[in-house]
Amino acid sequence: ATAMEAAQAKLAQQEIDVVRLGYSDLIGAERGRDILVRRFARTVGSGVAFCRSVFGTSPMGDVVDIEGGLSDGLPDMLALPDLATLHAVPWEPGVAHAIADVYNPDGTPAEESPRNVLRRVIDRFAALDLRPMVGPELEFYVLDPAPEAPQGWRRYGEGTGNVYTAGLKGDPENTLLAALRRLDAYGLDVVAANHEFASGQFEINLWHSDALNAADRAFRFKTAVQELTRMQGKLATFMAKPFNDEGGSGFHLHLSAWSPDGSAAFDDPDAPDGLSETARSAIAGVLAHAPALAALLNPTINSYKRFGPDTLAPWLIDWGLDNRSAMVRIPPERGGSTRMELRLGDASANPYLGIGAVLAAAYLGIRDKLDPPAKLEGYGYDVSKADRLPGDLTTALAALEADTDLAEILGPRFVTTFLAYKRNELERFSQWVTDWEFREYSYHL
Ligand code: GLU
Ligand code: MG
Ligand code: MG
Repeated sequence: ATAMEAAQAKLAQQEIDVVRLGYSDLIGAERGRDILVRRFARTVGSGVAFCRSVFGTSPMGDVVDIEGGLSDGLPDMLALPDLATLHAVPWEPGVAHAIADVYNPDGTPAEESPRNVLRRVIDRFAALDLRPMVGPELEFYVLDPAPEAPQGWRRYGEGTGNVYTAGLKGDPENTLLAALRRLDAYGLDVVAANHEFASGQFEINLWHSDALNAADRAFRFKTAVQELTRMQGKLATFMAKPFNDEGGSGFHLHLSAWSPDGSAAFDDPDAPDGLSETARSAIAGVLAHAPALAALLNPTINSYKRFGPDTLAPWLIDWGLDNRSAMVRIPPERGGSTRMELRLGDASANPYLGIGAVLAAAYLGIRDKLDPPAKLEGYGYDVSKADRLPGDLTTALAALEADTDLAEILGPRFVTTFLAYKRNELERFSQWVTDWEFREYSYHL
């Protein structure tokens, strides 16, 4: 049987009548279509057509003039399911979900599609005989409707929780635990869930796997958490820093690489710190390209408000052994678990682009045999130090534009599209009157 026939048999057996064919846009939001199973083979055989505005509209629907966008008449793109990603959706009986790859009408992969960006980076590793492995961790806030609150939402379980508060005390309606079970049933390979520092803030860890699979799961995870909380009338937000007085939400990434024989390429018991040359060069690459990485791992105007002394988010471009104030932390395990934890990213990052970007930087470090600078010892929030991360999105985008080595790995057309999209966002924000301005300027001046 063909892969399509096998998939159809599986769908029939599970009494599924609809497949939700989805994929990531530039910001990591899911775009897709629900397709009747009885039409599935016919419909997806040659690809499901989507208008290119998927990559050129903001969350609020503003049209951005990307390359191949409105000024080119918004031509079609074609989405084809990756049948290996087909999963029944446990909370929507009769529905299965599949991730699509996006192609141009001439059959070539759409270069600006985030999943294609990551595929290209993984191909580079393959040329070095390495398989990048990734374990994502996502933090988020759960909010309850509160018509009287300025944003219309307040934190779920407000005033109840602290980091690692267990049970109903910090999760009064069992929202986190219920989500953990359903995410597991959805095949996301989740490991654990815990309360974070602020009430209403939680973290769920995903088991590590090959990079594409890890990014697919992180992408499905974000949509799934939003859907599950929405069914309870709640809002799960992956915004980087939703509240002035509470910490932001991180997207930490545990990264390593395997050799073709399955051995851990970052491990070397005889080397300093037990880290192989490959690991050291990968770390060096991530540090060398950090300002540009910020554009993809901290992709919003709001992202830069998460950084700050004593936040456990990074502040300097540095690395350290089991140091949570460093941008790159080397967890203490060695052997097959030797890895780095990149703490730079925030939860608003597109998983495909965040993972693709850090792997591209690690690849460049390995390819160019870079050496990392000295490790951070102790406190990572020395504000007098010069090697600071970009302070705002404008600076990070300029760093991405200037990093032509990184752009070559990610794909120049993707980078051009991403820059146009994000600069449009900055432009719209610069024209928007905020509540802060009103408070600061309306009364006293
Ligand atoms: N919330 C912190 C961040 O934004 C991380 C806290 C932790 O280490 O769990 O990255
Ligand atoms: Mg955490
Ligand atoms: Mg972590």
